[in-house]
Parts: sequence; structure tokens; C-alpha cells
Amino acid sequence: MSDPNDPKVTTNKGPPGPGTKTGPAPEPIDPETGQHGSYWVLTEAERAKGFVRPVRTKYLHRTCGGLTRMGSAIAETYARDPTFYGSTFCAVCKTHHPLEEFVWDGTQDIAVPGGPLVVGGEMLGS
Ligand SMILES: [Zn+2]
Repeated sequence: MSDPNDPKVTTNKGPPGPGTKTGPAPEPIDPETGQHGSYWVLTEAERAKGFVRPVRTKYLHRTCGGLTRMGSAIAETYARDPTFYGSTFCAVCKTHHPLEEFVWDGTQDIAVPGGPLVVGGEMLGS
């Protein structure tokens, strides 16, 4: 059972890895991909309370110009609580960077950094 006072769950729905419950992501980084094995998201019940930002799934890394797409659970978590994450993954650089290095695709809106957690993503296109 998840803790009702802690609305965080992992993107793979499994339990967090050992020693990572309070870390920026529930599992360590996989050196093959540069991404964590999973990421924190808000529960579906918490996300269902309503979004305070548009649900946007694609962002541009201003440093390299690369586009990355997030999964819907992560995109909805950000839209529900923009202070949840502080860093996100660039699928081109294959590393995590502070949110202020990114804009939402098709906009000049900088993703505003919030908390200590990190986000994953996948490269757009082939
Ligand atoms: Zn990049």
C-alpha cells in the first residue's frame, strides 16, 4: 500500500529501489541510457484533482536544440504540480539538466524549476 500522505509513485508502478525512496528518482541511472530506471510521478488520484498548467509532452533543450518527449504520467504530474521537478532528461545529450535550460516545444516558455526530483524522456522521431 502506498503512503496516503506521500502521493508519489514510480513510473514503472513498482516499489522504489533500495535506499532511493528519498532520492531524486526511485532507481539509479542506467549507464546504457543515461536515464534512471524509473521516475517519481503523482498518483492518478492526485493528478485527477486538476491541472494548473497545460499538459505538454515535448520540450526543447536550448543548449543542444534536441527535442525530448515525456510520458503522459510525467507530463500530467508537471501540469498538476509545476514545482514537482527540478531537472529533466535530454534525449540528445543523454543527461539530466536543470529545467531552466529547456523550453516547451513550439513556445518560448521556459520550464520553471521546482523541486529536487528529475524527469525522464525519450528522443522524438527515429
Ligand atoms: Zn541536450
